[in-house]
Amino acid sequence: MAVVGFDFGTLHSLVGVARHRGIDIIANEVSNRATPSLIGFGPKQRAIGEAAKTQETSNFRNTIGSLKRLIGRKFTDPEIQEIEKQFINATLVDVDGNVGVEVNYLGEKQRFSATQLVAMFFAKLRDIAAMELKTGVQDVVIAVPGWYTDAQRRATLDAAAIAGLTTLRLINDTTATALGYGITKSDLPEAENPRHVAFVDIGHASLSVAIVAFSKGQLIIKSTAYDRNLGGRDIDMALVKHFAEEFKTKYKIDVMSNPKAVFRLGAGCEKLKKVLSANTESVLNVENIMADVDASSFLTREQFEALIADTLDRIPAPLQRAVADSGLTVEQLDAIELVGGSTRIPAVRQRILSAFPGKSLSTTLNQDEAIARGATFACAQLSPVFRVRDFAIQDITPYPIKVQWNPEPTDQDEDKELLVYPKGNNIPSTKILSFYRKDTFDIEAVYAEPESLPRGIDPWISKFTAKQVPPDPKGDVTLVKVKTRLNLHGTLSFEQAYVEEVEEKEEPAAMDVDQAEPTPPKKKRIVRKKDIPFVTTSTSLDKARLEQWKEQENQMYASDKLVMDTEERKNALEEYVYDMRGKLEDRYAPYVQPAEKEKLLVALQQAEDWLYSEEGEDATKSAYISRLDELKTLGDPITFRYKEAEERPRAIAQLRET
Ligand code: ATP
Ligand code: MG
Repeated sequence: MAVVGFDFGTLHSLVGVARHRGIDIIANEVSNRATPSLIGFGPKQRAIGEAAKTQETSNFRNTIGSLKRLIGRKFTDPEIQEIEKQFINATLVDVDGNVGVEVNYLGEKQRFSATQLVAMFFAKLRDIAAMELKTGVQDVVIAVPGWYTDAQRRATLDAAAIAGLTTLRLINDTTATALGYGITKSDLPEAENPRHVAFVDIGHASLSVAIVAFSKGQLIIKSTAYDRNLGGRDIDMALVKHFAEEFKTKYKIDVMSNPKAVFRLGAGCEKLKKVLSANTESVLNVENIMADVDASSFLTREQFEALIADTLDRIPAPLQRAVADSGLTVEQLDAIELVGGSTRIPAVRQRILSAFPGKSLSTTLNQDEAIARGATFACAQLSPVFRVRDFAIQDITPYPIKVQWNPEPTDQDEDKELLVYPKGNNIPSTKILSFYRKDTFDIEAVYAEPESLPRGIDPWISKFTAKQVPPDPKGDVTLVKVKTRLNLHGTLSFEQAYVEEVEEKEEPAAMDVDQAEPTPPKKKRIVRKKDIPFVTTSTSLDKARLEQWKEQENQMYASDKLVMDTEERKNALEEYVYDMRGKLEDRYAPYVQPAEKEKLLVALQQAEDWLYSEEGEDATKSAYISRLDELKTLGDPITFRYKEAEERPRAIAQLRET
């Protein structure tokens, strides 16, 4: 069984696999170690990852990125409408109350939820791993932002399930980075005197920081902080706006009014930005940006830094917050480790450094692959396939969670809510809540500080309903215990509800002849847990919907495969025609009768004509196969004679040698 980790990124995603010699990041079908997080829809098939990237410009209305930013969100969320929309060219719509897209697929308008889109993408990542490992992939650990809420996490788990994957853990991405760091260090101190490291990740869309205490065999996340909307894409956008303004006068074009032009300029700006990380000036060239204009311009690093000052200025605050929440001083930090593509920008590094005065920045980790490595190691830890070195992970929740309920009718003074998991509470963690009830009852888990959540996310997490409460023998209220867990995925679950039945048994006293007084019989308390049936609801997909989307995904997958196989058979036929023609004039010439050759040539010509006819251009897989088979009936005897003649002398030579 395979051991696989995904780093699910806004722009690119990575796949790691564990093998006996260690963890490898896997290259995709075009040998890239990072796969574009994109889905494209076409008239005949879907294009996922690299294939979607290839067609992005020509099919940009039906190509969707930012998958990670959409999943678990509602169409009406202000962050979707105000922020994400700027980066998405497909039409966003409401699907079942969640955000989705409307695209042209197979010649008609179709809608897919963000969960389905992510499922399609995960299936692609799964295939990348499966192709490399030459085995099926089932278990996976997926790295997600630490700021993902319960709903975003559950939607990600649903997406993985639709793709036929079992998620052993959703791991916070910075925690994965820390794990990858910890397991490679053989010199970690004792727990009393841990090594403190700050990990800063600035990617395409968000910034994360975690301050982590490492000691022998364990890591403890001390604090985390985020800016969910600060990354490379904001820098690209600032450049786009700058050049769009410049081109208004320079070329008399309004780039911002033309989504395709914005897209082309965005690609040019990303390139320019990368060049400016290593050079102090660079040119911008965008061919046919719009209205037949080839746009070009120039930017110095100094100008660049001025243009993105707003973004840069927002970098130190979350870093300072993380230091403050960790209870440590900057001096107590042993290292500041950078990951994520945007930390390659010198000005970004400067701002990071400004939050850690007196320190220097390290890049001892592979900036692009650290998360995927950590996630893969986490999968190896949880999978029965590998035995890996013990390394304990103690993570924390960024959002406080409370439960609330209606008070027992006879006790109106009862509290109505309880903060069960405060901010910074450990993950995983189990807590048992006590309720005195006579009848069935509900409790709800909600985020206690809605204003700290991504804007628009409903603070509601889940609901628990005790289906029956056994009567108290004395006619009083019954003490019901409810076991809640902030689990490995960082989602909240209601795990068990029970009453405790206490039985006091008298144990016969041991005879003691020397004692004047008889010892009183000992009492032994036996506590039995009796489960109470309960139901829970959450934001997870209901079973019927999950099955339906799974089925639909399987159908689309099969249909894409058929399209690809058909294309392959078509190519095989085409190749045979050209190959055979060439060989008939060349190496097969001595082995073919003129009449036979004539017949085959005619058949080859007919096949070629058919291939370029309307019918042959777009035929079925079986049509291509049968055409090729027909040609082979004529061609195979010739091929056979040639091989015989070629191989006989060789066989004889071999015989002589032995
Ligand atoms: P996120 O973590 O926010 O979900 P991601 O994981 O896809 O996104 P990364 O791969 O860490 O993001 O980083 C991609 C970003 O880094 C892009 O905006 C890209 O333009 C930028 N980037 C990559 N290399 C460089 C470079 N040399 N100079 C400047 N920016 C760079
Ligand atoms: Mg990332």
